[in-house]
Amino acid sequence: MKNSENNKNYPNKWLGVFCGAYMGTDETVHELVKELGKALALNGIGLVYGGGGAGVMGAIADAVLENNGWVMGVVPKNLLETEMAHTSLDELVIVETMHDRKKTMYERADAFCALPGGLGTLEEVFEATTWTKLKLHEKYKSVMLLDNNGFWLSFIDLLDGITSSGFIKPEDRAIISRFDSVSALISTFKNS
Ligand code: AMP
Repeated sequence: MKNSENNKNYPNKWLGVFCGAYMGTDETVHELVKELGKALALNGIGLVYGGGGAGVMGAIADAVLENNGWVMGVVPKNLLETEMAHTSLDELVIVETMHDRKKTMYERADAFCALPGGLGTLEEVFEATTWTKLKLHEKYKSVMLLDNNGFWLSFIDLLDGITSSGFIKPEDRAIISRFDSVSALISTFKNS
């Protein structure tokens, strides 16, 4: 399938990206987001995300689109205005509920990436991971955390501590991995 307006090729792999509706305080994060967006587009990987036009969410969509990549956004109708839904996506799916949003994203994505974000991002990371653990996705889907400033390190420490305590099995801990380089994340994703 091609987008008739700009002749883009439809991706054969999709990365579901969870990330903040705000931009955060570290300005270097924007550079990382731009690098990831460009890499997705250049590697023919589609972006599926929450459909917002602001914060890290808006920045990742812009970066993919600027490099002629394909973006699908999924937004619940009650958040269309508050999250300023992006107006230039290839596909914008408007759903009824937050649960529908996540389910739609999960179905399209082959794996997940979390950029810096807040409560919503954490919730999505945990749910996508537990769905992999419980085999609720149609196949194994890994969760890759990406940062350039140590953002996810305390989260990794938390997971490792809980794993040492015997409440997370090592094979379930392995669903989540952290990357500090876009190229390593993309090559892991392409080879998975
Ligand atoms: P945040 O990380 O808090 O900036 O939120 C990032 C995105 O996650 C936003 O689009 C939120 O609407 C979304 N979000 C927050 N809570 C949930 C939830 N329970 N289920 C699905 N998406 C959520």
